[in-house]
Amino acid sequence: MLRDFKIKRVIKGRLLKGDEIISEITKILKENSIKAGLISGIGAVSRAKIGYYDQEKRQYIWEEIKEPMEILSLKGNISIKEDEPFAHLHIILSRKDYSSIGGHLFEADVFAFEFEIIELDGEPYERTFDEDTGLFLWKD
Ligand code: ZN
Repeated sequence: MLRDFKIKRVIKGRLLKGDEIISEITKILKENSIKAGLISGIGAVSRAKIGYYDQEKRQYIWEEIKEPMEILSLKGNISIKEDEPFAHLHIILSRKDYSSIGGHLFEADVFAFEFEIIELDGEPYERTFDEDTGLFLWKD
C-alpha cells in the first residue's frame, strides 16, 4: 500500500517551557487542519512518558522518567484517527551520562523544543483497529 503526497507547506516553531508536547502538537494540527504530514524536533524535556509495545501481550508498557534529558530526535507522522488529526511520535532522549533511551512518546514536558511540521497534500491515511497487531494502523 502506497500513496503519493506532495509537500503543501512547512511550519516551524517552538514550544514553551512547561508545555506538554503531545497535547500542544495535537492542538496545532487541529487549529491548522493538518491531516497528513511529518514532524521532527529537537530540544530538551524535564519529564517524559515513553512506551514499548509488547507484541505478545498486545499492549503498551510504559515508563515515566522524571529527569532533565536532551531530545536527540523526535520524529513522527500525522494521519487521521477517529476523524481528528493524530500525531504518532517516537523519541530518543539522552540522559546526563549521555546514555540514550527511547520509545513511543506518550507525554513529555518541554524545557525547550524546536520543531518542524511538513504538511502534505494528498489523501490522508486513516487509522483503524488492526486485528493482526492490536494497533490502530493505516487503512488501505
Ligand atoms: Zn509508536
